[in-house]
Amino acid sequence: MTRSRKPADPKTFHIKSFGCQMNVYDGERMAEMLGARGLTAAADGADADLVVLNTCHIREKAAEKVYSDIGRLRREDGTSPLIAVAGCVAQAEGAEIARRAPSVDIVVGPQAYHRLPALIEQAGRGAVALDTDMPAASKFDALPARARAARPSAFLTVQEGCDKFCTYCVVPYTRGAEVSRPWGAVMDEARALVDGGAREITLLGQNVNAWAGEDEAGRAQGLDGLIRALDRLPGLARIRYTTSHPNDMSEGLIAAHGDVEKLMPFLHLPVQSGSDRILRAMNRDHDAAGYRRLLDRVRAVRPDIALSGDFIVGFPGESDADFEATMALVRAVGYAQAYSFKYSARPGTPAAAMADAVPADVMDERLQRLQAQINADQLAFNEASVGRRTTILLERAGRHPGQLVGKSPWLQSVHVTAAGARIGDMVAVDIVSAGPNSLAGALVERIAA
Ligand code: SAM
Ligand code: SF4
Repeated sequence: MTRSRKPADPKTFHIKSFGCQMNVYDGERMAEMLGARGLTAAADGADADLVVLNTCHIREKAAEKVYSDIGRLRREDGTSPLIAVAGCVAQAEGAEIARRAPSVDIVVGPQAYHRLPALIEQAGRGAVALDTDMPAASKFDALPARARAARPSAFLTVQEGCDKFCTYCVVPYTRGAEVSRPWGAVMDEARALVDGGAREITLLGQNVNAWAGEDEAGRAQGLDGLIRALDRLPGLARIRYTTSHPNDMSEGLIAAHGDVEKLMPFLHLPVQSGSDRILRAMNRDHDAAGYRRLLDRVRAVRPDIALSGDFIVGFPGESDADFEATMALVRAVGYAQAYSFKYSARPGTPAAAMADAVPADVMDERLQRLQAQINADQLAFNEASVGRRTTILLERAGRHPGQLVGKSPWLQSVHVTAAGARIGDMVAVDIVSAGPNSLAGALVERIAA
């Protein structure tokens, strides 16, 4: 395939985001920037002039996916779109990507994507365009203002990067050091999202609860201060935040769960393992008992809070006893939902050089047991909702005529047949049945905005 068969001046684009919600947010910002430059979004990559693969490097499988996706972009007539690899694989593998996949035209890291238009021009002249800088000036200042929200529930990145250096994790290397966006920039973006139709905002960060800044009056604030300010924003109905680190769960943030009405009763607080020995090897800097005490404090101020977590099974050296400690913690907490992953050695991380790898079949067996427990707890949590009257923010059409799907305050998907209601409406429903992944609700009434 030659570069000359590629569009020099792309008119249409398609962005495919993998991995975390921060990538979804970055994908939206890239789309808005390309739209502001006159390009039109194409429904899929098959007929777009420019395809951006916004990649994830967190586990090996996720990172390898980009190469199979690039292969699939070759078209039968021998042409190809301009291909940009963005996100954390771009940052971690840089120029190596273009060597391994010569059809790639642009490689752009997560802190440099505001320069995408210039990179497209450079690629149009026939050279591979690479930018994996982590510039001191924030990319956010260079991006156009937020466009009308595509969904009633919007993401807003307030914090990026990580200084925690868990021994298994690539994030500190791919996303860089921990940086908080300024108070004013966050509030302006939140107002723009609400003006554009958003009713729920999820504040995002790799360690979002480490957010720190100063308000308009110059007072030091943490994430709880930002949440309290958003609580006063007219038109905004719901606030969420993710992902948090146990060590950044401040008194103020815990208190906010008790008294900020718009803050939804849901907390995603990853712990990774129930074994203190493994937590030390992971450099998590907290133990299992401390994590449980933290959850007890949150539950004390918000008894109905839905808890979520992340777990890694098969970290190097994880014994049967270590894994049983994880199972015991999961049973004791009773998560409303949780994510669990097999450990994946990532190049350049300290854990990748650790001895005592856990055999693949043992990892598989442990993951199955853990997921069975998590699924059972999730079903029990959902079943306990039956008979409850609650509010749902309708976010998308369901599969059946007249059916809409929204989220409960506890982040459960709820299907409801709601003639006359529209996406973006808040409705009261009675929960009538529950499955492992969603609930069914009967419409009571539409709640005025
Ligand atoms: N900063 C957040 C935290 O500490 O919880 C989330 C970081 S990461 C994007 C999301 C999850 O991926 C982690 O919580 C962890 O469970 C998982 N993860 C990270 N590195 C991994 C690895 N090398 N192998 C398997 N899972 C991993
Ligand atoms: Fe990765 Fe740990 Fe930072 Fe989370 S806290 S992003 S797992 S290094």
